[in-house]
Amino acid sequence: MHDIVTIPHWIDGAPRDGAGGRFGPVYNPATGRQTARVALASRSEAEEAIATAKAAFPAWRDLSLAKRQQVLFSFRELLNARKRELAAIITAEHGKVLDDALGEVARGLEVVELATGFPHLLKGEYSENVSTGVDVYSLRQPLGVVGIISPFNFPAMVPLWFFPIALAAGNTVVLKPSEKDPSAALWLAELLAEAGLPSGVFNVLQGDKEAVDSLLEHPDIASVSFVGSTPIAKYVYERGTAAGKRVQALGGAKNHMLVLPDADLDLAADSAINAGFGSAGERCMAISVLVAVEPIADALVQKIRERMSRLRVGEGTRGCDMGPLITREHRDKVAGYLDVAASDGAAVVVDGRGVEVDGDPDGFWLGPTLIDHLPTSSPVYTDEIFGPVLGVVRVSSFEEGVQLINSGRYGNGTAVFTNDGGAARRFQREVEVGMIGINVPIPVPVAYFSFGGWKESLFGDVKAYGASGFGFFTREKAVTSRWLDPSHGGINLGFPQN
Ligand code: NAD
Repeated sequence: MHDIVTIPHWIDGAPRDGAGGRFGPVYNPATGRQTARVALASRSEAEEAIATAKAAFPAWRDLSLAKRQQVLFSFRELLNARKRELAAIITAEHGKVLDDALGEVARGLEVVELATGFPHLLKGEYSENVSTGVDVYSLRQPLGVVGIISPFNFPAMVPLWFFPIALAAGNTVVLKPSEKDPSAALWLAELLAEAGLPSGVFNVLQGDKEAVDSLLEHPDIASVSFVGSTPIAKYVYERGTAAGKRVQALGGAKNHMLVLPDADLDLAADSAINAGFGSAGERCMAISVLVAVEPIADALVQKIRERMSRLRVGEGTRGCDMGPLITREHRDKVAGYLDVAASDGAAVVVDGRGVEVDGDPDGFWLGPTLIDHLPTSSPVYTDEIFGPVLGVVRVSSFEEGVQLINSGRYGNGTAVFTNDGGAARRFQREVEVGMIGINVPIPVPVAYFSFGGWKESLFGDVKAYGASGFGFFTREKAVTSRWLDPSHGGINLGFPQN
């Protein structure tokens, strides 16, 4: 264990070794070897991070908008210049291929760019002379110390969905990244410091449930932004709101792609491959169910199968298309669904367990898998598998397809493939899902819109980033003011009426 490095917290502008005595293993999923151990925070370490952020809050809040903006601009420049370093860190701990890791950073950068324009987004409103000599205006003020809890699958992008906006609005931050790939958050903290962010304004608390519970319970945490699986999102939402906090908790997904008979089948097949197997299916916006409206299912499955035979699986640094899964346990769990599919009567058309890999055989590999004739009663259909497993369900009409999508418990993303504008329009109106693609398989909204699903994909009603992000990280005040002119209004116990 001596040559294994320890990944620390980041508190008050510096790395902080774990003092709690608990550590979690961090692997390179492409080799299957442990590369580091990460500190798992104790309650007292969590309290220290929160106290640090609380102490840093008044000065950060009171810094002029122009000075806060300069820090964000510097951060944007540094992140853009050094994004390859961050992508390499992501690939080493998450396993996704380098191009995909760079794409993740690019989507995060978009939010930083949005946040640099924050003075405009934080402007209040002003109404003059609402009553004689009385003006009303609104102010947006920061919440205080905000908590952010992120999942393993986007170790940089998901924190970047939240903290640039939280900081722009004048809050201070405690980020609890996933313990499975914790280095990206630490790297971002160092970069923020280099960009001139004062110590204590942004802190990284490494850890697991104990750190999460500490954030949920602590009275000085004003809000919690959580992204992860649905059971934990629900838990975080319920506990956080019960403790009086503002909570947005984004959960899991099971995203369907509906292909109508008039669709361009080559475009649909390419899209199904990209959205089904990109990042080894470990994306909350991955397509995991293809709903083919007959009579095109056989032709579409054939096209997808041909394309799958050309995919290269291997180490993220070797120019492959798809990397490994996050842990051995997760790989085994996902692979277990293939036996379930077979026993539930589905046809395993391509079995990823026998995949040839360009990399270490001890990596957590599972190749792209295609399951046809998937019964909707099977757990392979109902569960969020979170791996490179694409199921095909055949339906006989548009209506049947929409009804199937709407009957699910999740409502994160969905896509329709068609050349019929009327059908696409009907789809966008009728489908009960938060993010919709029309001939676009992964419809992640750009930074100036907002990200979030419906139903069990989002607890709380405020989405991530965009205008919603600024709403979440600020509290509004309405001020009614009168500057007395020489004439006094006299006593009046009623509401003023003019
Ligand atoms: P996860 O729920 O296991 O973990 C998310 C966070 O919660 C981590 O920081 C983890 O340390 C913490 N956590 C884990 N168990 C906990 C517990 N018992 N109590 C308190 N905290 C706990 O999720 P994951 O496996 O890291 O990420 C994958 C999941 O995230 C998938 O379900 C995916 O769909 C979802 N996700 C959703 C979105 C979205 O925007 N809706 C985006 C990315 C990922």
